[in-house]
Amino acid sequence: MTDNRTNVQAWNDELSGATPEEVLSWAAATFSGTVALASSLGAEDQVLTAMIARERLPIGVFTLDTGRLFPETYELIAATTRVLGVPVDVYFPDAADVEEMVRLHGIDLFRDSVATRKRCCDVRKVQPLRRAQAGLEAWVCGLRSGQGATREQVAVVEWDAAAGLAKINPLASWSEEQVWEYVRANDVPVNPLHDAGMPSIGCAPCTRAVEPGEDVRAGRWWWESAEHRECGLHARGEAAR
Ligand code: SF4
Repeated sequence: MTDNRTNVQAWNDELSGATPEEVLSWAAATFSGTVALASSLGAEDQVLTAMIARERLPIGVFTLDTGRLFPETYELIAATTRVLGVPVDVYFPDAADVEEMVRLHGIDLFRDSVATRKRCCDVRKVQPLRRAQAGLEAWVCGLRSGQGATREQVAVVEWDAAAGLAKINPLASWSEEQVWEYVRANDVPVNPLHDAGMPSIGCAPCTRAVEPGEDVRAGRWWWESAEHRECGLHARGEAAR
């Protein structure tokens, strides 16, 4: 695996002012065959999947099935392939790890403490993500600046120290309005639960609707304080700018 952390600043300089499509094209060329989109199936990731399809870019798309997703999310996986023509690779948690965790802590351990919630996210999300990232040099995701208390500043290219990979955020400077304009203009399939007041959708027991004007991630792990509301997939590494 190539250690690209020293290139991150130069890449951000090179990509200054680039559109998301240009960033994706750059990623496909720079990390040929070793870059993939980690899709949460949220609106931002659906936009990126549609861009990859429209530009016919050689960037694979994968998602994580935690086993606790909404039925609508499973339907969206199928719709993404049907409508956009993009196969979505689905990674599952290790069955033995889930069984041991549930045996020790119960099926809804995430309600007990931040530590047990993070253990659930680690087993159901982070470890499958690491398997999906094996062999990659870079991963793409739909993070935007201003997506809540944990995501104030997002650079187009960051160094993901936990994964040892470059992390590409083509929508870093996009607003929520730009995301939805693209969805509407291009008939991008999205989760119908967004219309039920859920701007950020994760596992069913850990997601609820938010009030208009509330932080977009206020409906995720709402029983915890805002600074804890990440699942470990986006531990902030050494961001350049
Ligand atoms: Fe577990 Fe909730 Fe994290 Fe899903 S979001 S992996 S159910 S703690």
